Amino acid sequence: MEHPRTEAGYTTRMQTVRLLPASLAALALLVAGCSNASGGNDTAPSPAASATASPTPAPPAFDASRAFTDLETQVAFGARYPGSPGYTKMRDWLQKTLSESAGVEAKRHDFTATARGKQIPMSNVFAHINPEAKTQVLLCAHYDTRPTADEEIDPIKKAQPIPGANDGASGVAVLLEIARMLKKNPPTCGVQIVFFDGEDYGPSEEDMYLGAKAWAKAFPLPKPTYAILIDMIGDKSLQIYREQASESFAPEINEKVWKAASALGAGEFQNSVKYAISDDHIPLQKAGVKAIDLIDFDYAPWHTLDDTPAQCSSASLGTVGKVLAKVVYDEK
Ligand SMILES: [Zn+2]
Repeated sequence: MEHPRTEAGYTTRMQTVRLLPASLAALALLVAGCSNASGGNDTAPSPAASATASPTPAPPAFDASRAFTDLETQVAFGARYPGSPGYTKMRDWLQKTLSESAGVEAKRHDFTATARGKQIPMSNVFAHINPEAKTQVLLCAHYDTRPTADEEIDPIKKAQPIPGANDGASGVAVLLEIARMLKKNPPTCGVQIVFFDGEDYGPSEEDMYLGAKAWAKAFPLPKPTYAILIDMIGDKSLQIYREQASESFAPEINEKVWKAASALGAGEFQNSVKYAISDDHIPLQKAGVKAIDLIDFDYAPWHTLDDTPAQCSSASLGTVGKVLAKVVYDEK
């Protein structure tokens, strides 16, 4: 199934990763002028330069099969939306696994969201590596899953929660493996790993991105130099395009990522803009953080019961993990 789109590239399905109205994109552009983020180092050294002339630590191997196991573990918890039985298991497993992986204590940022007219307790889960470093990179993904399969046609299926293998588990799996790499060989820069809650609660946009909104209001960790969000990056036929709001607000961060992808020969990173997508990077951008979203929105099982591990691959997790790791380890 393909998503219906207008010639402008916007889909008519306005659910989880919502497509951004033009007015918001314009707002993002306006806010860019008020940013206090320094943007970090824009010129990553070539691989040869880092091997010979720079003390930059090298990234350890990204274990893609281990990451895929973490994806399967999450799906096995069942639905993981706030209030569901799988949610509590997921949150507690995530905090424990992040602590073990990163080698630093992972914490919870608890908040109460008002969604669907109810007060709902939610928690972001985060860890901070090298807090004293000058450059701080925030890597984030959402760990909750959509409570209803809105893209199903059959009303019985539509009312059920999605498995969220790609839409939820994939981003978490990649960042947990990156945490293990950072523990094995600490980078020069600081890394804030943040798992957002309530991204996909919905159904409407005011009840989405709840964890990112709460984070951008409280900043439980100091504002980072820049932020990279990953979402739906496990699709076995991976194609990641530059996202419009990211390209408008933080083009230098997109450039950093696409340079790293090119250096690694990761052709899955397409060097053109395809979609404007509303996701957890927007609340961060509104708070002045240079934030980008890496997302593969060409995913037929999006918000259906078919968003299962069979639709994902360890190779895709590995591709994104290696590119992100290169960005982090090249950072000063
Ligand atoms: Zn979603």
